[in-house]
Amino acid sequence: MPGDLIAVDEARARVLATVRRLATEPVLADEALGRVLAEDVLSGFALPPFDSSAMDGFALVAGPAAELPVVGESKAGRPFDGELQRGQAVRISTGAVIPAGADAVVPIERVDDGGGSVRVPEVAPGANVRRAGDDVRPGQLVIPAGSVLGAAELGMLAALGHVEALCACRPRVAIAATGDELRPTGTTLGPGQIHDSNAAALAALARGAGAQISETTWVADTEEETRAALERITADADVVCVSGGVSVGPHDHVRPALRGLGFDEQFWGVRLKPGKPVWFGVRDSGRTRQYAFGLPGNPVSAMVTFHLFARPALRALQGADASAIRTSAILDGPLKANSDRDQAVRCRLRMADDGWHAEPTGPQGSHVMSSMLGAAALAIVPAGERDLTAGERVAIELL
Ligand code: AMP
Ligand code: MG
Repeated sequence: MPGDLIAVDEARARVLATVRRLATEPVLADEALGRVLAEDVLSGFALPPFDSSAMDGFALVAGPAAELPVVGESKAGRPFDGELQRGQAVRISTGAVIPAGADAVVPIERVDDGGGSVRVPEVAPGANVRRAGDDVRPGQLVIPAGSVLGAAELGMLAALGHVEALCACRPRVAIAATGDELRPTGTTLGPGQIHDSNAAALAALARGAGAQISETTWVADTEEETRAALERITADADVVCVSGGVSVGPHDHVRPALRGLGFDEQFWGVRLKPGKPVWFGVRDSGRTRQYAFGLPGNPVSAMVTFHLFARPALRALQGADASAIRTSAILDGPLKANSDRDQAVRCRLRMADDGWHAEPTGPQGSHVMSSMLGAAALAIVPAGERDLTAGERVAIELL
């Protein structure tokens, strides 16, 4: 391991400094959930597109209480086609067009409905009328580029009549799990063997950050196999995440292999627990730029370093906001200081009368996979000599 570990923020900044946005492609709105919008969406027309009723009731000209003849009906999608005169009422449904001449609606609950005529109370102009453009004005910027398309965005795209959206291409992520001890799930474990769990966890994290998985592979702990496997999977990926084999042991071949394949080291080793032996490099070939993360093999370290370094890269590649949500919470248990390294402590979150509380998920060893279960945040505890006690405020980063 190198002597000069860098800080988490410095490592993240170095990652983001290398990122060049991916190309864009039109995506059917139906298939765009989770995609990142690559252009500003402006409205071509107003929403609502016409003055409409906010209630079921009667449209009329505002005025004092009166008995009015009902001269027609405006239903949702079937406007009244005449012009309403003062002293008349038109039956109207929620969302239906306000008839020409009318300027207010009395809700059905407030009238005495005689069928052919209706007794209405005093009504103010504009009552229960939704104005055209209340929600969105024509030409307005509605969804900015860089937005992740969720339910609200897809609903808005549909309201504006879009069948497709220009989105960032999804980063293609290749995942390699190194280790002679690893076996795929569905096979019986021999002595000293464990199931490869990192490939599954990292693939899920990558998908959650908007990526597609181009390939997942297993790599034996030899120099030749490591190089051959990484050469193959780097051929067709924007981002490569390799787990394990990135430390200083005699069987750690990932770093030399990636360097040998032309990846320029940007950092190796972060002042972080868990996740110290993390490596990051970039390769430029022609017009393409590729990014390689050598993540520690310990399952918790792999996930934590992915979250801190690879996820921001994947988001930035798509033009989305790469920053995590950072805030603070009240610590619900003591934490031991670490004099050399910042700690990323997995925590459950709960809301109480005095705000958010973060409760460490239990033993925090980098092999303790159960410490990730139910974890909603990382408490970021700066390196130092002083132990933290329950009740203190800690910085947290949402997972
Ligand atoms: P390494 O970084 O290769 O030295 O591995 C560190 C620890 O993580 C060892 O205990 C490995 O067995 C474990 N490990 C490495 N890769 C994986 C994996 N893909 N799934 C589960 N555990 C792993
Ligand atoms: Mg290993």
